[in-house]
Amino acid sequence: MRIQLLPSTFDAQGVANLEQRLTCFLIDDCVAVDAGSIAIALTNEQRSRVKDIIVTHPHMDHVASLPIFIDDLYPSLKQPMRVHATPEVIELLERDVFNWNLYPRFSDLKNDYGPVMEYVPIPIGKPFNVAHLNVVAVPVNHIVPTVGLVVSDGQTSVAFSSDTAETEEFWRIVNAMKDLDALLIEASFPDRMAKLAEVSRHFTPASLGQELKKLTHNGMDIMAVHLKPTYRDEIVDQLNALNIPKLSVMEPGRIYEW
Ligand SMILES: [Zn+2]
Ligand SMILES: [Zn+2]
Repeated sequence: MRIQLLPSTFDAQGVANLEQRLTCFLIDDCVAVDAGSIAIALTNEQRSRVKDIIVTHPHMDHVASLPIFIDDLYPSLKQPMRVHATPEVIELLERDVFNWNLYPRFSDLKNDYGPVMEYVPIPIGKPFNVAHLNVVAVPVNHIVPTVGLVVSDGQTSVAFSSDTAETEEFWRIVNAMKDLDALLIEASFPDRMAKLAEVSRHFTPASLGQELKKLTHNGMDIMAVHLKPTYRDEIVDQLNALNIPKLSVMEPGRIYEW
C-alpha cells in the first residue's frame, strides 16, 4: 500500500516543505483520507484517479480544499465524487460547508454526465469497502464527531488515528488486527501546551507516549502526523526524546510503501 501525506505548502522552487497545515492522505493514488490539501497538492495524474474521499471529521484543516477539488473537476466528472463519512459528519458538511453560502451544494448539482458528488454513509465498527480497500471506522475522542480508520488491502493494514486525545475503542480495533504495518497518529502540540491540547482534544508528545502503551502490536512503523507547524521543531525533539522504537515524523510529499 502506498500512502502519501499530501503537502500543504511549497517553497519558492515548488518543493513540498515539511510543515503540515492541512490533512489529506492519498492511498494508492486513488483513495483520499480527508481532503485538506486535495485541490492544491495532487499531480494531474492523481487528480484524474481519485474517486473516493473518506472524511474523518469536518474541521477546516481536513476539508479546506474539498469544495475546490470538486469545483475543478465539475465539468469532467463522468461519475459522482464519492464522499464517505458517518451520517453525522455528512450532516455537518451539508450544514456548514456545502450550504450554498460557504460553497454550492454539490450533492444537488449535475453536469452533462449526471450528479457530481455523492455521499456514502459509513458504518461504525463494521467493515466496508472503498475502491480496493477494506475499511473499519471507529469513533475517537475529538471535539466534533470524528472517526479513526483501519484500512487494509488484503496484504497490508494501516491505522489512522485522525484527530484525537486519549481514546479506547480505536485501540480495541487496532489491537484486534492480526497484522498491522503502520500506525499514523497525531501529535499536535508541544508538551508545554498540554492545556490547549486537552481542551481541543489533541495529543502532545507526552500524552501520546502514554497513549501508545495501549498498543499491543510491536514492530510496526509509527508515524506522527498533524504537528502544528508553529511548534514543529519542538514537537519533533519531544517525540525523539520518547525513545519509542520505529516512531518517526511523517514527511509531507514523500511516498511511503508498506
Ligand atoms: Zn480536528
Ligand atoms: Zn486537524
